[in-house]
Amino acid sequence: MTQKNYRHALNNPIFEIISKASDELGQDSYIIGGYVRDFLLERGATKDIDIVTVGNGIELAKKVANLLPDKPKVQVFKTYGTAMLRHEDIELEFVGARKESYSEESRNPAVKEGTLHDDQNRRDFTINALALSLQHETYGELLDPFSGIKDLENKLIRTPLDPDITYSDDPLRMLRAIRFTTQLNFTIEEKSLKAITRNAKRIDIITKERIVDELHKILLADRPSVGFRLLEETGLLVRILPELIALKGVEEVEGQKHKDNFYHTLQVVDNISKNTDDLWLRWSALLHDIGKAPTKKFHKKIGWTFHGHEFVGSKMVYKIFKRLRMPLNNKMKYVQKMVLLSSRPVILAEEEVTDSAVRRLIFDAGDDIDDLMTHCEADITTKNPRKQQQYLNNFKRVRQKIKEVEERDRIRNFQPPISGELIMETFNLKPCREIGQIKEAIKNAILEGEIGNNYDEAYAYMLQKAEKLGLKK
Ligand code: ATP
Ligand code: MG
Repeated sequence: MTQKNYRHALNNPIFEIISKASDELGQDSYIIGGYVRDFLLERGATKDIDIVTVGNGIELAKKVANLLPDKPKVQVFKTYGTAMLRHEDIELEFVGARKESYSEESRNPAVKEGTLHDDQNRRDFTINALALSLQHETYGELLDPFSGIKDLENKLIRTPLDPDITYSDDPLRMLRAIRFTTQLNFTIEEKSLKAITRNAKRIDIITKERIVDELHKILLADRPSVGFRLLEETGLLVRILPELIALKGVEEVEGQKHKDNFYHTLQVVDNISKNTDDLWLRWSALLHDIGKAPTKKFHKKIGWTFHGHEFVGSKMVYKIFKRLRMPLNNKMKYVQKMVLLSSRPVILAEEEVTDSAVRRLIFDAGDDIDDLMTHCEADITTKNPRKQQQYLNNFKRVRQKIKEVEERDRIRNFQPPISGELIMETFNLKPCREIGQIKEAIKNAILEGEIGNNYDEAYAYMLQKAEKLGLKK
């Protein structure tokens, strides 16, 4: 069971301190899980380090904190029997080795003290059960009871126990399996994949917050489509984001087909992931077409249409965020906005790019205009290289035009050059409808290019407009 020595994985002085503290308490301790896995995969030193000790994890954390020069605060999670402390940029989590047993009735396992092996048994995957010894005599030795090392080499996600039990005990592990597969470019062992499919409906008992955490991690991987395909194939996606499943499939009527918007969407997400690490821009790509399922229609003359899908989709974003208990904040509004505007640059690029259309687009997108263009470029999924190049060129033109218009007209963070107060003062008005009308007219005149975006021209325009409305100075 004991294999090669990995002393060189322990070159941070913190490990010596944990070793010393364990020694003083007479407890054996090990680094376990993500840190060991990522070290072996050469993913760079992970800042989250999990320590398992055969004995009391909270006591060990306190002892370690005491031995550290900066005496960090220990955060104790009594219900879980764990403790956490931060040292420099490292987050250390301590837990006493335990044995877990799950029952049908409860989601939470009964927990008993156990051996290191018991603790490795309760881990989700063989590659996450690898432990490095912190005992003096065996310092840096790897304890790998389930051949996790071999699975790392073969890039395989495998559970230490019967996968049906592992997944049924804590269904979140199904999402973790898919997440690690996506992040690490691994494969899920066939037996495990079947077990996930069989247990998919149990994902319903998992809190939305934990599910969303995994979705975020899948979305932040290099190729999120790997994860979403697996989520779809295993029957998890339909329980988490049925709106995406509704995009699946190609319908044909009178010889006319539309594209499969599910696979198109996955391609867009992969495309955009090459150009941005922004989680919310990736979410926008994932949801940009969700309005297409409820708006799909076939017309004898024009074929398939999805009229208003952007508007419908942006409304759906709110419902999805709400259902998944994601904060209904500016990030949600940003995704809504991206979905709502997602076709605008396309329409623009198809026609002649007029200044006024560009000004309106900049006005509506504001500071998110660049993100919107990044989205549109990712939205090109045609396999035809000539068309692809043509679309890219069109967007290049739009980008160029945006730059020119913005430099000249400064629409991006449009502030009305004439305020409501000034209108009221000039015409001696109390708050009334006309003020809004004048402001709107000025804004439109600027966007249409009838007047420049400046005070003098806007003032003159205000006077004209007011006269038409019968107002006197
Ligand atoms: P990352 O930090 O990249 O998410 P990780 O493997 O460190 O990866 P954590 O969630 O930090 O994942 O968990 C640390 C360790 O705890 C894991 O390596 C695994 O051994 C164990 N673990 C975490 N969640 C579960 C779970 N749901 N079931 C079983 N073991 C788990
Ligand atoms: Mg971790």
